[in-house]
Parts: sequence; structure tokens; C-alpha cells
Amino acid sequence: MQTPHQGRLFSLSISLLILLFVILYFFIYIPQIATINNIMESPSKIQAFKNKFFRLISNDIGIDLGTANTLVYLAGKGVVIDEPSVVALNKKTNRVVAVGSAAKDMLGRTPAHITAERPIIDGVISNFEVAGEMIAYLINKAEKEYPKLLGPRVIVGVPSGITNVETRAVRDAATDAGARQVYIIEEPMAAAIGDRLPVRAAKGTIIIDIGGGTTDIAVISLGGIVNSKNLKIAGDKFNQDIISYMRDTYKVLIGEKTAEDLKIAVGRVIEKPEKKVGKMRGRDLITGLPKEMEITDKDIRTAMQNSVDTLIDTIKGVIETTPPEILSDTIGSGLYLSGGGALIEGMDKYISDAIHVPVHIVADPLTAVARGTGVILENLEDYEETLVSYDNELPIIQ
Ligand code: ADP
Ligand code: MG
Repeated sequence: MQTPHQGRLFSLSISLLILLFVILYFFIYIPQIATINNIMESPSKIQAFKNKFFRLISNDIGIDLGTANTLVYLAGKGVVIDEPSVVALNKKTNRVVAVGSAAKDMLGRTPAHITAERPIIDGVISNFEVAGEMIAYLINKAEKEYPKLLGPRVIVGVPSGITNVETRAVRDAATDAGARQVYIIEEPMAAAIGDRLPVRAAKGTIIIDIGGGTTDIAVISLGGIVNSKNLKIAGDKFNQDIISYMRDTYKVLIGEKTAEDLKIAVGRVIEKPEKKVGKMRGRDLITGLPKEMEITDKDIRTAMQNSVDTLIDTIKGVIETTPPEILSDTIGSGLYLSGGGALIEGMDKYISDAIHVPVHIVADPLTAVARGTGVILENLEDYEETLVSYDNELPIIQ
């Protein structure tokens, strides 16, 4: 039985709904009517019209699930969330307590049953549940801040070479979080699209995305990745290299944060006449006491040398195993660098000198993937072939 209160609520919602449609009709349809004939002539215009309409009642959300940083792009607003990829998890309830910098700040200050985890380690989803919770948290946060009538369309950037099972897990997590439609894209492809590179052209585009846990090297042609390599030499490894070097050379122990700060402030992979100097604080391994000393760009360069050279060898390997017809125009126009590692001073020049090909850094390398998801959402019909399709996924047998 319906109570009078429920009845009133029901008729109120129906009236509100009708009112909403009347408003939408006047604000969207009538102004368009003058050009409606024009619209009907071209399918892309119909699509653009549909997109405009749906954007009024539903969000388009792009998520860059990086190993170090997670970004959320909201169509019409830009990057609305930019947080470290860390989740604080309550082990007793298995629920997420905090995400991003709030979770990072909880590290070491919380009771034992709360742990901080990175959902993606070395380019693979280390914990499906955590990754799922992170995706759900981000979608809910964006939806709460910018509420809309229908569930959002969501596109998630994932590390290249992700397995079918992982892809399925990402899709399910986004669907469970209320997404109306979910699309998956490999991160190097999204980065290239974010920089408006000609990914659908019949010529190879090479993109090197140096992230936190992994570097993705991808050759893109005709909207697909035709050759790629994923290696675990990236920002985190450089930090570890710096820690080892300081321990072995100066007998000083430093933490990961100090190593990262030094890499960003003093790091430079090419030689230049002027020195870059920074202060390093650590613990003297001989006396056990705190120690402060000056570090130069040469120290950081020497520390990272082996890793950078392995990176170069891998880039050469990818070029060598790519069919020459795909590369014929590419070598002249050059390769593109994205991800936080692209910001290490001289990385572009070092790679360019080593392989004798021009190297360009994409605009704002840290947000290229997130911006790419935005470009795709705005022109889905044009970028369909760049997405990871269901056909590539194997059914999961329960
Ligand atoms: P991911 O996509 O894997 O999350 P990002 O592209 O966000 O990774 O890059 C994060 C990495 O980039 C970290 O290792 C960080 O130390 C490094 N990084 C960020 N900014 C700079 C900078 N200005 N110079 C050098 N390295 C940087
Ligand atoms: Mg990335």
C-alpha cells in the first residue's frame, strides 16, 4: 500500500521530470531547430548533437590509473583530481579509508590494521580489490562534486600489456561504481592522443611514457599499437639507483622521498658546463649519525647511468623489431616522450643523441594520458579503434 506521503512524493517527482524535459526541450532542441536540416545531413553532426545533450544529463569521466599518480579528467572541466596512486585500506573491514595524498599521509601514523597500498605495482594490478575500490572512489568523488541525472561514461587508461583478466576487473569496478558505459585505453595510446599526435594515420608514431613503475614504449599506427615494450625501469628505479649510489659512494643512507627530491631538483642526464647542486640529508652509515652533504648533477647522472642505458637499448630494440614501412616517415619526425620521467633534464637530448632521431617532449607530460582520455570522450566515434575492445578479452570461466 502506498501512503499519502509516498503518493505525493511520486507525483512530485513525475511533475519535476516533466518540467525537466520541457526545459531541456526549450534550451536544447528549439535553438538547434534552425540548423536541424544541416545536422541531419551529417552523421558526425548528429553525434555531436547527441554528445551535447548527454553531457547535460551525464558526466564523461577519464581516469589515468598510473603507477605513481592517478588523475581524473572531467569533460568540460579538465583535470579535477590529481593524487598519488595510494589507497589506505582497513584490513578488518576490507574497506578503503582514504585515497591519494590523504592515504599517503596516513602511512606510519595509523593503527596496524590500516595499511597503505599501491594498486598498481610495476605496471600490473597488484590487488584487484584495491584497484577496484580506487576506481569506485574516484568515480563517486567526481559524481558527487558534479552530480548529473544519469550514470557517467567512463574511460580508464591502463598500463599497456594489461591482461584480459585485469581489463575485465577494471571494467567491472567502473560498472559497479555506477558507470553507464566503460571504455578501456592503453596509456601510451592515450598519451599520444592527449598530445594530438596523428595516431590514426598510416605512419608510425613512437611514444615513450616514462612513469613511476614502468616505461612504456609503443609504436602506434592506424589507431592501434603495432609494437610495444613495457619495462620496469622508470621513476621508482631511478630513485632506488640514487639510494644505492649514495650508500655505496658516500656511505650515507637516504629514504625514497629524499632520493626522489634529489632526482627532480638536481637530476640531469647530459653533461653541461654549469653545475647543479643540492643538499642531501641522510644517516651516516659509519657513525650512525645524521649527515648533510652537497650533491651535484654528476652524482645523480652516475647513479642513473645503467638504468638510462638499459632504457636506450630497449628503445633501440623496439625500433629494430618494427617493420621498416611503418617507420619510414617516423624517423624524420621523431619520437615523443611523456610521463614524469620526460621531465628529467636532458632526457630528450640523451635519447636523441643515442639513437640519432629527434625526440620531443609532449606538452605537460604528467597530464597527457588524462587529457587524452578527455579528447577521446569528446570524439568517441573517431577514436573507437584506439580502445581496447571486448573482442580482445577472453571470457572468464567461473
Ligand atoms: P605514472 O603514470 O606511472 O603514475 P607519472 O607519469 O605520473 O607516472 O610519473 C611519475 C614519476 O615521474 C615519478 O617517479 C616522479 O619521481 C617522476 N617525476 C615527476 N616530476 C618529475 C620531474 N620534474 N623531474 C623528474 N622526474 C619527475
Ligand atoms: Mg602514466
